[in-house]
Amino acid sequence: MNEKKGILIVVSGFSGSGKGTIMNQLLKKYPDTYALSISATTRSPRPGEAHGKEYFFLSEKEFKDMIEGNALLEYAQYVNHYYGTPKSYVQQQLEQGKDVILEIEIQGALKVKKANPDTLLLFITPPSAEELKQRLTGRGTEEESVINSRLSRAWQEAQGVEDYDYLVVNDDLDKCVAKVHGIIQNEHARVTRNHILIEKIRAELKCFAKGE
Ligand code: ADP
Ligand code: 5GP
Repeated sequence: MNEKKGILIVVSGFSGSGKGTIMNQLLKKYPDTYALSISATTRSPRPGEAHGKEYFFLSEKEFKDMIEGNALLEYAQYVNHYYGTPKSYVQQQLEQGKDVILEIEIQGALKVKKANPDTLLLFITPPSAEELKQRLTGRGTEEESVINSRLSRAWQEAQGVEDYDYLVVNDDLDKCVAKVHGIIQNEHARVTRNHILIEKIRAELKCFAKGE
């Protein structure tokens, strides 16, 4: 087992805020540092998406079998479809010392935080609602009715932002990626994440203590 255990990170944000784009950049820049969990979903693949790459695309029956087999860390419904995080990959990557990122919506985020209070929760927002609408429309992957459902869901999600640890504005993409990386890496220095190191240094210092 790796001595340095990875941090579990949840990245949420309105659909179209740029989460997927940020994750791609982060993994490209720091492939040895991060592992991105691949979720299971019952929604259909978008053009260019492949099974096992962006998602594991499952039927509703297959998804429900995963729930019953206790194979998911969390799952939720989002705009008429199921989405969930397979457990085994996340555990395995954390043990190997990778910082594991779950790009999931808010209900799942809160379930993960409840089960694992050490989870770092980041929320990504575009600079404005108008920019969000433009990005969702500009992506060109959903028809208008789905875009409207996602914008309406964004309003609901905006009510839960206070449950997150950090808010990051995705305006300039490079700056946003640098900020996300900085927040995660600073998190490694938190005293509560360094008990083993502190105990080791205490034990080493003991021989200098003057008889007390
Ligand atoms: P999400 O994964 O949050 O749904 P995407 O990563 O698919 O969002 O991004 C939505 C759209 O916005 C895509 O077309 C993407 O290229 C674009 N985009 C992402 N980040 C930025 C940015 N900083 N500035 C302008 N456009 C962006
Ligand atoms: P999309 O269909 O745009 O890929 O994703 C829709 C929403 O589902 C996004 O907010 C995304 O973060 C979320 N999502 C993706 N995978 C999961 C998952 O495994 N669990 C949960 N709870 N949400 C997910």
